[in-house]
Amino acid sequence: MLRHECGYELEIYCKRCGAPVVYNQRLGLYCPACGREVTMVCHRCGKKW
Ligand SMILES: [Zn+2]
Ligand SMILES: [Zn+2]
Repeated sequence: MLRHECGYELEIYCKRCGAPVVYNQRLGLYCPACGREVTMVCHRCGKKW
């Protein structure tokens, strides 16, 4: 489960391979399985994840 800075929690899955996406301070959202970088906007506060 990912947690945004505003407290919103959401599970995100990679569109390419289906693995759960993780957050990394340096890279942002990415898939640890295939390395795909994911751009997401928080549903609650509207800021970039
Ligand atoms: Zn993937
Ligand atoms: Zn948010």
